[in-house]
Amino acid sequence: MDETKKTLLRTIPKTDEVLHAIEKEHLCDDFSRPLVTDTCRAVIGDIRDGIMNGRIASEKGVPSAGAAAGRVAERLRALSCYSLRRVVNATGIVLHTNLGRAPLCEKALAHVVDVSRGYSNLEFNLEEGRRGLRYDHVRRLLCAVTGAEDAVIVNNNAAAVLLVLNTLSEGKETVVSRGELVEIGGEFRIPEIMEKSGAVLREVGTTNRTHPADYERATGPVTGLILKVHTSNFRTVGFVEEVGLPELVALGGRTGIAVVHDLGSGSFIGLDDYGFEREPTVQDALATGVDAVTFSGDKLLGGPQAGIILGRNETLERIKKNPLMRALRIDKLTLAALEGTLMQYLSPDRAVTGLRVLKALTEDPGSVEARAKKLVRKLKSRLPGDTWNVTIRKGSSLAGGGALPAQEIPTALVVIVCRDLSAAKLEKKFRELPVPVIARVFEDKVVFDMRTVEEEEFPFILEGLANIAGKE
Ligand SMILES: *Cc1c(COP(=O)(O)O)cnc(C)c1O
Repeated sequence: MDETKKTLLRTIPKTDEVLHAIEKEHLCDDFSRPLVTDTCRAVIGDIRDGIMNGRIASEKGVPSAGAAAGRVAERLRALSCYSLRRVVNATGIVLHTNLGRAPLCEKALAHVVDVSRGYSNLEFNLEEGRRGLRYDHVRRLLCAVTGAEDAVIVNNNAAAVLLVLNTLSEGKETVVSRGELVEIGGEFRIPEIMEKSGAVLREVGTTNRTHPADYERATGPVTGLILKVHTSNFRTVGFVEEVGLPELVALGGRTGIAVVHDLGSGSFIGLDDYGFEREPTVQDALATGVDAVTFSGDKLLGGPQAGIILGRNETLERIKKNPLMRALRIDKLTLAALEGTLMQYLSPDRAVTGLRVLKALTEDPGSVEARAKKLVRKLKSRLPGDTWNVTIRKGSSLAGGGALPAQEIPTALVVIVCRDLSAAKLEKKFRELPVPVIARVFEDKVVFDMRTVEEEEFPFILEGLANIAGKE
C-alpha cells in the first residue's frame, strides 16, 4: 500500500469518536444502540473503501467525526422512511403489475382494518363454537355470484395453477395445446410450473392451430388433466384455430378426464358491454361444466392478490386435501380485502362504479378528457407560462395484467413540457416526489394518461409540480 493511503487511513475518525459526536448532538436518539453502532461502522468502512479505491485522495476528503456522525444520522433517517409507498399511476396501464395491480375499494380497506385490528373469526365457526374454515368467508359470496359449487383461495393464480396440476395430474400427463404454452411474465411459464407440479406436459397441436382430434389422440390412461390456458397477454391472428372449452368439457365427460381452465384475469362482468372484444367471463366458463377454473384476485376482479379456484365439489374436495394447500394458504388481510371486494359484485353496477379497475376500464373517453382539462387548468394557473407548456392530446391506454391484450382504449393525455428540463429528467423528478407520479414518456415528452389518474390524486401532482418548478 502506498504511503499516502496509509496516512489517510490514520485520519479516519474512530468509532468511539463518531459515537460521541452522535450522543452529544442527540442525532440518533430514536434508534437502538446496536443499530447506531453498526451504522457507524458501515459509514467508517465506506470511508476506508473510498481511500483504498482512490475516490478519497486527500485529507480534505476524509470526513471529521462530526461529519461522519451526520452521515450516520442521515442513513438511519432514510431507513425509517417507508420504502413501500403509494404512487400516482399516470401510465395509463390499468393493471400494472409493478404498481401493485388493482387498487382496493373503500369497503375492502375498511374491512381489512376492522378485521385485523383485533382478533377475528378467521377459522372459528361462531354458530357452533368450534373450528371453522378460513375459505368459507369468501366461498359463500363466490358461489352466490358465479354459480360455482365450491371455492378455494390461495396466494395467487400461479399457486392456484400449481395446486391444480399437482392435485389432478402428479405423475400423469397434462394435455395442453402448443398455442397455449404461454409465459405470463415475472417467471411464470406454463411448462415450468408444470414441471414443478410433477405433472408431465403433453403438448398437442401447433402454435397456430389445434383441433379436437389432437386432444382425442393425446388422451388415454396416463392422462390426468386437460388444461386450457387463456392466452392473456398476446393474440394470434390469421390462420388460427383453437378448441373451445365446451368441446374439451365434452371430451372430459366421455373419457372421465378432468378439464381445468386457467382464465388468468377472470372477470365476473362481460366487458363487451363496454366496447371490448368478447372474452368469456368466469360464469361463462363455469357454465360449460368445466371441473375447475383458476384466476387472479388482483387482475380484472379488482381485489387483492389471490388465486381463486372455482368448480365442482368432487374436484375441489380433492384439491382441499392436498397438503400443498397449507403452504399456499392466504392470510386474513387478503381474505378481508377479498370479501370486501366481492361485496361489490352483489350488484354488477356497483362493481363497475366502485372498483377502480373496472371504473378505469369502462370510463368513457369524454369523461377522461374532462378530467384532463380540469388538471390542465389547475396546472396552468400555478406554473410560469414562459418555461412550462401544458397541453392535452388523444392517446390510448392499456388494460395490462394480461387482460384484454392488444385492445387500445381511447384516452386523454396531459403533455407536460419544461423548457429547461429534458423529458427524461422531468420524468425522473416526478418519480422522486414524496408521492411519486409515474408518468409515460411519449415522443420525447412527459405525458400523464388521465384514465388511471383520479381527481383526488390531483393534489399530489399539483404539489409535486410546484415543488419541481420551484427548484428550477
Ligand atoms: C396472470 C396469469 C397467471 C398468474 O397469475 P398471478 O395471480 O399473477 O399469479 C397465470 N395464468 C394466466 C393465464 C395469467 O394471465
